[in-house]
Amino acid sequence: MTDQGLDTVVAGVRCREVLADLSDYLDGALTPARVRELQAHLGACDRCARFGGQVAAVLQQLREAAVVESPVDVVDAVLARIAAER
Ligand SMILES: [Zn+2]
Repeated sequence: MTDQGLDTVVAGVRCREVLADLSDYLDGALTPARVRELQAHLGACDRCARFGGQVAAVLQQLREAAVVESPVDVVDAVLARIAAER
């Protein structure tokens, strides 16, 4: 049984690609062009916006708990973007 939903293409990006890149996205490790692609997808895909928001929140909590220097502005930007779409 496969989850074909993950192969859904929104804004030119598959859901599974978004999920695969999410960690690098939150780390600020992606190119600006890729970030724009993922943001476009997250802004148009309810599934990824919901899941991405949950993952971002968890990663942020982990980083705060570890007192690691983190790109919080990137996480904030993701969450703000998701919130703005609702
Ligand atoms: Zn998606």
